[in-house]
This record gives sequence, C-alpha cells and structure tokens, in this order.
Amino acid sequence: MERTFVMIKPDGVRKGLIGPILTRFEQKGFKLQEMKLMRIERDKAEQHYQEHREKAFFGELVSFLTSGQVCAMVWEGPNAVAAARLLIGHTNPANAAPGTIRGDFALEVAENIIHGSDSAESADREMELFFGTDAKPGIPSFDVDELDSYP
Ligand code: UDP
Repeated sequence: MERTFVMIKPDGVRKGLIGPILTRFEQKGFKLQEMKLMRIERDKAEQHYQEHREKAFFGELVSFLTSGQVCAMVWEGPNAVAAARLLIGHTNPANAAPGTIRGDFALEVAENIIHGSDSAESADREMELFFGTDAKPGIPSFDVDELDSYP
C-alpha cells in the first residue's frame, strides 16, 4: 500500500468539483485517509512548489494557489502515486486525455484543477507539510470500516 497527496486547487473548488473528484478517486478504489478544506499561506504554497522556485510561472502559481480555498487530501492504494497521476492526467489540460480529471474539467495549464504528488518522496514531503504526523500510516484515525460495527 502507498499513500499520495492530492490537492484540489482553488479553481477546482470554485467550480464545485470536490464531489466529482472524490467520486472518481473512490470509484477507482482509493481509500481516503485525510481531507481538509483550507486556505493556504504564501509560505506554504512556496514550500509546496519549491522545485519550481526558479521558473517564470512561479509567482503566478503561488498567487493562484493562495487565491481561494483548496481541498487537501491523502489517498491510499496500491501504487497510489502513479495511479493518482494517471487519473489526474497530463499537466497541460489541453493535452490531457478525455476521461482524466484535467482532460474533462480544464483547458489551461495555469488552472488545471488538481495536484498529485509526482513521487513517493514528494508525497511524504507534501503529506508532512499539509497534515504533519496525522498522515503517517499506522497513526489511528477514523476508519469508515468501523461503521459496520455500529448498531
Ligand atoms: N504550471 C504553470 N505553467 C507551466 C507549467 C506548470 O502554471 O508552464 C503550473 C501548473 O499548475 C502545474 C504546476 O505548475 O500543475 C506544477 O507543475 P508540474 O510540472 O509539477 O506539473 P504537475 O505535477 O502539477 O502535473
């Protein structure tokens, strides 16, 4: 089992896509481990996208990410990092295949709806940044399977 960090960006939240995106991840078989609707500070957005610090689009990317609420999540499943990237689709929505989230819901790279970690190392770093120790496997949190035992 692997965990990955996924974030619906402000454009996705504004367009009312939290529900449809959760559905796609659940239908695929991923298990939701953490979820938080939040606004992020500039500093956190910069840390999250630290590998793009030198890129021309960095300033706009950080402003965009702090322009509204995001929905931060941790999903678990076999090969979760790669499998989530496939579900999300190509970085540029114009090149993303229909059936992928970016392929179906976006057209421009600057507003491509959703983020998914690109490696297990990035996933660990991003889960720590957004959820701290809560996202670590083995730390007990609410488990939907427990519902079965309620009367
Ligand atoms: N991005 C952008 N312009 C570009 C390339 C990327 O605005 O020319 C943004 C886009 O929102 C993308 C994010 O920067 O999702 C991070 O880029 P990356 O290459 O890591 O793509 P991702 O992993 O999100 O597919």
